[in-house]
Amino acid sequence: MALDGKTAIVTGGAGGIGYAIAERFLRHGVKVVIADLEGEKGAQALADLEKLGDARFVKADVSKRLDVHNLLAETIDAFGDVDILVNNAGIVHAADFLDLKEEDFNRVLDTNLKGTFLTGQAVARYMVEKVEGGGAAGTIINMSSINAILAIPEQIAYTVSKGGVSQLTRVMALALAPYGIRVNAIGPGSIATDMLASVNSDQAARNRMLSRTPLGRIGEPGEIASVATFLADDDSSYVTGQTIYADGGRLPL
Ligand code: NAD
Repeated sequence: MALDGKTAIVTGGAGGIGYAIAERFLRHGVKVVIADLEGEKGAQALADLEKLGDARFVKADVSKRLDVHNLLAETIDAFGDVDILVNNAGIVHAADFLDLKEEDFNRVLDTNLKGTFLTGQAVARYMVEKVEGGGAAGTIINMSSINAILAIPEQIAYTVSKGGVSQLTRVMALALAPYGIRVNAIGPGSIATDMLASVNSDQAARNRMLSRTPLGRIGEPGEIASVATFLADDDSSYVTGQTIYADGGRLPL
């Protein structure tokens, strides 16, 4: 694999899917900076990840421009480069359209969509400068969802944000293609993390979700890490602007 020796930033890397991606990257010899809002959770995750390789934790809120710039600066300071960005940080909020509060709409959009834009733009600017200076092109992976395609009425803000992430992925891919920088997204279905537990708190909801998933089971974070590894690696060298769905067949076939 061409990943050995590369440097990655994984946002929302203190838990769930982000942690699984960081872990997988480290096993492939990637130097990894995890960024997360949660300081204590991040420090705990780092203690485990450090056993696998060269890892750092930076406390950062991806919806805040200064935090994002600090994250990039600390990454360059620690590892001298960044080749891979995984824009994974995200939150969900359950509310029907008529009940959704403005502050909750803003909070979800700020993290999921604006955070992906701010971090993507800051890292892309760095990557473009590197290419113009004769360096190798990097790659960016955004975390979308099956909600980018499915209209889920009880998750309005989240659904809108993930539709935005998949579109942002396409426009970023077009803007950065002249530099050889590839931008793709992953669209997970139901994956066993704290986020899923928060929206599927009762057995009836879990049964409903399973009945709509042809493979008949919830996915594991490691099954999303596998897709991230493919997209980060040269194996996917002709893939850009895509959202790759890993959803147990949940999207209509
Ligand atoms: P999770 O809640 O387990 O982990 C998300 C992490 O992001 C947490 O550690 C959290 O502290 C961090 N975070 C939240 N807001 C942040 C911010 N503003 N700045 C930095 N870090 C922040 O969730 P997960 O299930 O691992 O989700 C990861 C990504 O995958 C999200 O973008 C989510 O929308 C997406 N996704 C998850 C599922 C699923 O079923 N679990 C399905 C589709 C898409």
